[in-house]
Amino acid sequence: MEKITKVLITKEQIAKRVAEMGAQISKDYEGKSILCVCILKGAMIFLSDLIREITVPVQLDTMQISSYGASTVSSGKVSITKDLKTDIKGKDVLIVEDIVDTGISLKTLLEMLKERQPASIKVAAFLDKPERRVNDFKGDYIGYEIPNEFAIGYGLDYAERYRELPYVGVLDFVEE
Ligand code: IMP
Ligand code: MG
Repeated sequence: MEKITKVLITKEQIAKRVAEMGAQISKDYEGKSILCVCILKGAMIFLSDLIREITVPVQLDTMQISSYGASTVSSGKVSITKDLKTDIKGKDVLIVEDIVDTGISLKTLLEMLKERQPASIKVAAFLDKPERRVNDFKGDYIGYEIPNEFAIGYGLDYAERYRELPYVGVLDFVEE
């Protein structure tokens, strides 16, 4: 059985940090427009809050890449299960992701998307677990660094559950 054992980031802290991130992004992209790429499904909620804090013009597209499924251990393999509709050539692309863990997904995805020749490409991730990194991936905009625990809520799931929680919690797996 799994159980939420603590609240890591409250609804109020999320709102404050997302506003700060939106302000920073707006400043960095002044005079430009951004193609925001939502990595489904975990980033849906973060993206919807973030774009409403961005003051430069935004376009949206979505992508899905293979991830953990119901397990909490990374497979180490990445494939695109739903590709973009937009041709990103010459565009300023901002990938929006829920969490960076091993870094395998985002490092691989960045390499694949760079081949399509965007004008620029950056990553905004709400959460980061730097302790878990197996490569040199570094996000451009990070909401919070968190310890090596399994986070749920604010879009993040465990076996498709808990995405709707307005806060980020820690899930523990307890014997019964
Ligand atoms: P990475 O390739 O190991 O960086 O995997 C990142 C992906 O794993 C994220 O987009 C999430 O879907 C999933 N993931 C990693 N850590 C967590 C967590 O603590 N809670 C929920 N999903 C996670
Ligand atoms: Mg994800």
